[in-house]
Amino acid sequence: MTHETDDPVGDASMPRPVVASKRLYMRAFGCQMNVYDSERMGEQMSDLGYAETDDMADADLIVLNTCHIREKAAEKVYSELGRIRQIKSQREAQGKETVVTVAGCVAQAEGAEIVRRAPAVDLVVGPQSYHRLPELVHRTRLESRAIVDTSFPEESKFEKLPERSASRAGNRDLPRAATAFVTVQEGCDKFCTFCVVPYTRGAELSRPVARIADELKRLVSLGVREVTLLGQNVNGYHGEGPDGRAWTLAMLIRHLAQVAGIERLRYTTSHPRDMTEDLLAVHRDEPKLMPYLHLPFQAGADRILAAMNRKHTAADYLRLIERIRSARPDIALSTDIIVGFPGETEAEFKATLDLVEDVQFAQAYSFKYSARPGTPASTMDGQLDEAVKAERLQRLQDLLDRQQRSFNASCVGKTFPVLFEKTGRREGQLIGRSPYLQSVHAEAQSALLGRIIPVEIMAAGPNSLSGAVRAA
Ligand code: SF4
Repeated sequence: MTHETDDPVGDASMPRPVVASKRLYMRAFGCQMNVYDSERMGEQMSDLGYAETDDMADADLIVLNTCHIREKAAEKVYSELGRIRQIKSQREAQGKETVVTVAGCVAQAEGAEIVRRAPAVDLVVGPQSYHRLPELVHRTRLESRAIVDTSFPEESKFEKLPERSASRAGNRDLPRAATAFVTVQEGCDKFCTFCVVPYTRGAELSRPVARIADELKRLVSLGVREVTLLGQNVNGYHGEGPDGRAWTLAMLIRHLAQVAGIERLRYTTSHPRDMTEDLLAVHRDEPKLMPYLHLPFQAGADRILAAMNRKHTAADYLRLIERIRSARPDIALSTDIIVGFPGETEAEFKATLDLVEDVQFAQAYSFKYSARPGTPASTMDGQLDEAVKAERLQRLQDLLDRQQRSFNASCVGKTFPVLFEKTGRREGQLIGRSPYLQSVHAEAQSALLGRIIPVEIMAAGPNSLSGAVRAA
């Protein structure tokens, strides 16, 4: 590894801003929290003179912010690292240094094994230590050795991260979009038997209300109008309120809705067991809380739900949906479903289809069960053949697709307030979000970006709507 003279050297713990511009290639895999974490890493490096690039070969710093949810996640990261090794060698031949970083949940799960299997990697940093990224990048260059930091530090990363930046993901050339994520809760104590989150993200931690409100106000001052509050178990939120007591997610939402300039709030991902009465009441009473809820149920058979350690039954879930709909009749529901959990019989799979038929989802994410090393389900008896899982998934997805199309079709002729977020592929077209989180395309002037405008829905596709702007 070479040293460059434009980078600070000396006190390894105190990297100073550099004048010369460097390039950062950041790739976020997986969930919205990884998108948020990537933005925060980008913002930190932007303060040190790094601008984002889409071209890996142009990057002085490459960060893969990895996800462990999908099948063979670690293997996919190793294969990507093989490609990066070649780019790093080519750059080295040109006298250019490249710091290769693996962040996120695969970093947490694999740790030093990553450096052993992929020696091109200079830095492995877990989801709880990425606030140290500037210092770690600096140290790895200074010490010419790989560094692994997968600790769960005493200090909260949220207290150490810089203020939210006016630019998008640290790229000074891209203005911030009108929508943003804010992590309010992280980690999970539920230990569903198929899931790695409690091991990679650690125990449940909720940020204090005042810090979240500060971040929201800052985002609003930068033009953000819609914020999605994030947490692996977001409705288990129990952060310290201004009165010193633990506040619920419902209390947090009511508080944030009063921030001047914020027009829309959403939250994800929820657990059915934590859908409390006060949260349902916020769905009923708070107009800034959008009528969309992602509420995973995972499986329709009670025996499978018990084996998953979900601690709710199918009947509990259906009763809950009834209560949610009576609080907010127009709510659009989304969910996560796993098919082919160990031991799942055909009849148990049909119970999943029945539950989907009963609820009628606007959107859903469905997956074949795949074993995650270290989770209890990975060693359970009755692991199913891939072919059985694939065939069940196909049947489920056919049903979910029909439901999504039917929900979208039911929107035609209605007029929705749409928050325009970005320009479309076609000249003169903008893309925004309906209250129900559908993508909406419309002919509109770019002056409407960042504004909420009535749009009459004229047509519906499987994944998006199109419409015409109507006078406000
Ligand atoms: S509640 Fe969600 S994050 Fe927590 S263990 Fe279960 S699936 Fe994983």
